[in-house]
Amino acid sequence: MRGLLVGCLLGLGYASMSVDYLIVGAGFTGATLAERLAREAGRKVMLVDRRPHIAGNAYDEGDDHGLLVHRYGPHSFHTNSDNVRDYLSRFTTWRPYEHKVLGKIDGMLVPIPFNLNSIEALFPAAKAKLLTDELVAHYGMGVKVPILKLRQNQSPVLHELAEYIYEKVFLHYSEKQWNMNPEALDPAVTGRVPVHISRDDRYFQDSFQCMPCDGFTALFKKMLDHPNIELCLNTDFADVRSVKAGRIIFTGPIDEYFDYAHGVLPYRSLRFDFQNKPVEVFQPTGTVNYPNDEAYLRVTEMKHLTGQKAADTTLIYDYPQDHIWGQTEPYYPIPGPDSRARIAPYVELEQRHKDKVLFAGRLGKYQYYNMDQACASALALYKILAKA
Ligand SMILES: Cc1cc2nc3c(=O)[nH]c(=O)nc-3n(C[C@H](O)[C@H](O)[C@H](O)COP(=O)(O)OP(=O)(O)OC[C@H]3O[C@@H](n4cnc5c(N)ncnc54)[C@H](O)[C@@H]3O)c2cc1C
Repeated sequence: MRGLLVGCLLGLGYASMSVDYLIVGAGFTGATLAERLAREAGRKVMLVDRRPHIAGNAYDEGDDHGLLVHRYGPHSFHTNSDNVRDYLSRFTTWRPYEHKVLGKIDGMLVPIPFNLNSIEALFPAAKAKLLTDELVAHYGMGVKVPILKLRQNQSPVLHELAEYIYEKVFLHYSEKQWNMNPEALDPAVTGRVPVHISRDDRYFQDSFQCMPCDGFTALFKKMLDHPNIELCLNTDFADVRSVKAGRIIFTGPIDEYFDYAHGVLPYRSLRFDFQNKPVEVFQPTGTVNYPNDEAYLRVTEMKHLTGQKAADTTLIYDYPQDHIWGQTEPYYPIPGPDSRARIAPYVELEQRHKDKVLFAGRLGKYQYYNMDQACASALALYKILAKA
């Protein structure tokens, strides 16, 4: 891995270069493909990223107080894939961490996803028992019910509960996060945080929930430490178009690659406010959601995720905002009902250009991926390329 900190080959000129693969983007998708193609398949890879660092949105670094922070928002690792776990375990040891989220509802902090413990915290005992009994009788213990489905329940007791949860947990949260009403979103979005008929307060139920002991950036450094990988940071794809590459793998925005020929794909962005507080522990869980009154959406205390010990603590406040190309980061594809229609002409272009360039990752596919999904789809693509 050469040229880690600055753009590579300064002065040499890229036109003289020839590689098997030119990979654009050093996040989970691009780095996994670069590692596999270089180490396992023995291919010569040039990996470029326009940012000054590796690890994409999973990038972490020490802040001014010596605390590890996630620059692009808090990332907790979880997966049900043994394949992904085993693959990434070559580059890191892990610290067990189960992410928990509380939400501020009616002045109280209650578990999110909303569950039986949330009901008991918010309602008087007799009412909570009635609601709990009805939920268990209708759906069964352990079941996850999307809020839009719960709202269709005909039982008056459950209908009242559904309206309460919809308003207090989903409605204003969605307006803040997406600037959209929950019903206008793809149902998969609200379905990601269902009402959980259980007393399990964990945010995820995945079989493997851990954080890399030395952080994500350290994991990526090990991944990319191979002589077949030429790493060029501070380098935009536009700077290396003249490189002779057998194939391009592009993990940047697909609409940008095609010069927005079919319009700009809409994204939602976030602004992160990092605040250090002179207290050992600020809040009881990794993240506290603020669905209703505050301007910020959630507050994450990094020490819960990283396990670092210190007398002070660093928090990340998330403020959702519109995405403006060239000014803000494109974080989330907007999951509206017309999202598939918007991407369709780009998928057609992708098909026409597939001998020259392959698109992958969350920006290349215009799709929300968790880190494990980004890694899994990169491993799947590698399998196809290795056979070719
Ligand atoms: C706020 C937030 C929180 C998240 N939290 C979690 C979490 O807790 N757990 C989880 O599993 N997942 C989480 N995710 C998802 C996670 O960030 C993604 O799964 C992961 O980043 C996908 O990796 P990627 O390589 O596809 O994309 P990215 O990480 O975005 O990498 C793409 C890279 O391509 C580079 N690039 C783009 N265009 C160009 C160009 N033209 N030239 C050069 N370089 C270019 C970019 O600079 C970027 O570094 C979160 C996402 C967000 C936005």
